[in-house]
Amino acid sequence: MLDAMWRSRRERIARPTCRNSAVSDDTEAGSARLAEANSASDAQQWTRAAALWDTLRLDFPEYPLCWLKAGEAFSGTGQVERAEEILAQAVVRFPGELWITYQYAFLAQQGGNLPTALSRARALLEGFSDQPVGWVLTTEILRDMGRLDEADALLGEAVELFPNDQWVLHGHARLAMRRGDWLPALSRWDALLRQLPDHSAGMVGRAETLAQLGRTDEAECALEAVLALEPAGSHAQRLLSTLMEARSPQENVMRQVRKRDIAAELVERIANPEVFIEITSVCNFACTYCVSPMKLRKKQEMSLGTFRRVLEQVAGMTTKPVRLHIDGEPTSHPRFKEMALLVNSYGLPVWLATNGSRLDSSFLDIWMDPLISISTSPEELAKRHNKLDFDRYIDRVVKYARDWSRSQSRQHLYFYVIYYPQENAEADAAYKRTKEAFMVDFCRRADLYETCWEQNSVEDATYSLSRKEHPRGISFIKQPISIGGLYPAEGKMVARERADAGFCDAPWRQLVVHSDGTLGACCVDLSGGTTYARADELATTPIRELWQSAPQIVGMRQNFLEGRVEREVCQRCLTQGEVRFHEVSL
Ligand code: SF4
Ligand code: SF4
Repeated sequence: MLDAMWRSRRERIARPTCRNSAVSDDTEAGSARLAEANSASDAQQWTRAAALWDTLRLDFPEYPLCWLKAGEAFSGTGQVERAEEILAQAVVRFPGELWITYQYAFLAQQGGNLPTALSRARALLEGFSDQPVGWVLTTEILRDMGRLDEADALLGEAVELFPNDQWVLHGHARLAMRRGDWLPALSRWDALLRQLPDHSAGMVGRAETLAQLGRTDEAECALEAVLALEPAGSHAQRLLSTLMEARSPQENVMRQVRKRDIAAELVERIANPEVFIEITSVCNFACTYCVSPMKLRKKQEMSLGTFRRVLEQVAGMTTKPVRLHIDGEPTSHPRFKEMALLVNSYGLPVWLATNGSRLDSSFLDIWMDPLISISTSPEELAKRHNKLDFDRYIDRVVKYARDWSRSQSRQHLYFYVIYYPQENAEADAAYKRTKEAFMVDFCRRADLYETCWEQNSVEDATYSLSRKEHPRGISFIKQPISIGGLYPAEGKMVARERADAGFCDAPWRQLVVHSDGTLGACCVDLSGGTTYARADELATTPIRELWQSAPQIVGMRQNFLEGRVEREVCQRCLTQGEVRFHEVSL
């Protein structure tokens, strides 16, 4: 790496020589030849570069650049003897040319002839002691010869002479690493980074040093900072992987969680959770991407009496909208509207996930934001319900949207438009156009272009309109279908490797009351796998107490904090080592 840096530095110094050279001034042809040769060297097309520079050298023997470049190009082709011959003549002809002297020594170093390289580097150092390059090259060769003390002493002098030179500072720090002097190495990297805070080689060197000192957290942070600056930094990436592999997957998860510094946030989430009350686990649909049809948990409706008792307790535990769904179709509960208005009576809005098949305009009185998962073609609806007529289904949803658009309802309507994967890009583009045509047609049929303003384009990820006469609006959210983990494909579970390391914030965030009166810790778990309190416990213990301190949920949280995935459903849901933390908890 250092060699590369030197080369680029030398180029910067060599180019003005090239521009001032009479080779370019004499004739246009000379200038063109020079440009061609330089371009071949820049592209490392060494055979071509060697031929071009050699001819230039013979035509313009008084110009050192031609000798230097010819030597370098022959060396690049592997014709080391030829390069030696040219550079040996060049050092005699041009004793005052720094980079010729450097290249001559460097050639020997590259060839592994270290004694010769050392004597040439010493000549470089003596002849050009005011330039750091001789100091650094000499110490590199001493280092390669195993003469580390001498190299270190020499670099110490160089640091005194060139305290701001990055190559000197870099070599000084690297040498300390080579000697295994980790504390001095760290302070030397710090010295370099004080001069050049974004010096990526310095940042990586410092990270390596920190790792050697056992300060692996700091090392990883440093490497992540390098990768943020240079995402393709393969050395940093390799080091980071090595550090991570040295830890258990659970430790890596714990580290990621610590880094996010979410302890206080988790406490706040327990104090003000997202409450889900599953008023029914019975669904009138059987979507092929949902486990509901598998009946992993008893299907039942919550009685109004139970709902009242639950709501009485949880309404005081949250300031957030109350969700009336987990499994099941909430609008199919015969007391749905009554239950929703009861939630409103506590000053809380309702959030609802619904398939839209039972929407009724009388629901517009409810203070709620429904998320309507809408099928946009008969074929897609058939994957969810094999008897329902598509046109009647859509008519019903269109009517709801039309009535909403002319009402003063406080609802914002969200439509979840599922995107199934297509075979190729062409099919995907056609599929997207069909979806967009559906949305435009839907809006026309619901008179939305008369009653609402379009906020953006139907081609955007979310297509939104806002109501003209009253606040709120309507949004079509386009989302790919989820497959794997908890989500079946075509009605069948997809095998996925179980995760035993991971973190998920749901047990701090989501207070779930199932339709059978048990408590769960997660809204995507339709199986009951996150259940932590039985219905009879709810009858005797306040929900707040169970949510805060039931041993099973406390254990689940603690396991996650230690990077362990305890529940089987979570092992299927998370990928190995995944840290799932929702930045915003609504
Ligand atoms: S996705 Fe919703 S509508 Fe479909 S089966 Fe599951 S619960 Fe029912
Ligand atoms: S890991 Fe998945 S199943 Fe487990 S609590 Fe989190 S979201 Fe729910």
